Amino acid sequence: MASSVQNSRISSPGYCACCRTCNMWCWKGFKWLPVSFIVSIITWSYYAYVIQLCIFTIQSTVQQWIYLVLYHILLIMFVWSYWKTIFAEIEPIPEKYKLPEAELEKMLSAESEDSQRTILENFAKDLPIVTRTMSGSIRYCNRCVLVKPDRAHHCSICARCVLKMDHHCPWVNNCVCFHNYKFFMLFLGYALLYCLFVMATCLPYFIRLWKMYEEYKHAHCDLILESGAYTKICVDMINGDFGTATSSGRYHIIFAFFVSLMFAISLGSLFGYHCYLVVNNRTTLEAFRAPMFRGGADKNGFSIGAFKNFKEVFGNSPNLWLVPVFTSFGDGMVYPTPREEEESESLLSSERWDRWGDRARPFDERESSSFDEL
Ligand SMILES: [Zn+2]
Ligand SMILES: [Zn+2]
Repeated sequence: MASSVQNSRISSPGYCACCRTCNMWCWKGFKWLPVSFIVSIITWSYYAYVIQLCIFTIQSTVQQWIYLVLYHILLIMFVWSYWKTIFAEIEPIPEKYKLPEAELEKMLSAESEDSQRTILENFAKDLPIVTRTMSGSIRYCNRCVLVKPDRAHHCSICARCVLKMDHHCPWVNNCVCFHNYKFFMLFLGYALLYCLFVMATCLPYFIRLWKMYEEYKHAHCDLILESGAYTKICVDMINGDFGTATSSGRYHIIFAFFVSLMFAISLGSLFGYHCYLVVNNRTTLEAFRAPMFRGGADKNGFSIGAFKNFKEVFGNSPNLWLVPVFTSFGDGMVYPTPREEEESESLLSSERWDRWGDRARPFDERESSSFDEL
């Protein structure tokens, strides 16, 4: 790590500024493609569900209203969480973690890895960090020229270090990290509920259409098709024009069922996995490589109990757990560890605050002193 310390300046490629700007915009546009795909699917599903199923297919007004109200509640929560995950303000790492010019000079001119390591140790001695690299050194990012706060990692797509980095998600064109992890969880949860709801309410109509198709085919086409003679009625049937109901919406309803089933399977497994990570207080990166402490690697190094882990992400107030507003604890740099949590159990509330400092207070309760409630 320290031996590769270098200035973050990247040499400019050999093409003109105009091409560079063009490339940059192309790359920016390209990164929005997965989000555009999701937005198109949501828009189409709105048409298929609201127009084709609820308005054109469902006969009962009461049923129409119930479906439409529930659908819109789920849609609003889903889109709101999605929006917040995409556009969450990912705050930069504070200045105090950045290596000043003088320290960087010293690092670059240091003769050995050991002296680089000592320079970093000295610089970081007052910073609230407990994690180390595999070799026991201070974690340092040579591209951002900073000491990495605990759980922070460098994202090569965002080209910066982000706090409590989970992973870079192309589907939200953003890093999933401390600042939007709660939104990401709610996005997965509401998207899953949305798909399950669409799937469950489309299912009876999907079965009915399938039966209609089979009956119609049996009554009009089986014998003709066997003889190899394709009449207009058979061609129409294959194109979806069968039975008495309007034919245009049929494929939309059938397709809505299959698409929501497909998304429900993938969202369900991803959401389940992230629930497991939340109750164990791990990020995706930490699940693959356990964080390293002074005493060695510990995959449960930040786990302070399932419910407290949950509250670290979702906050203290149950009223806001399911709402995509930021309520996560702390500042993204300081995290309670099990040992400190045990030691502080005996302290008074105010002493515990002093121990962790104002930064570790719940975001939504900065004015109170209820660390005990975590
Ligand atoms: Zn970095
Ligand atoms: Zn990123």
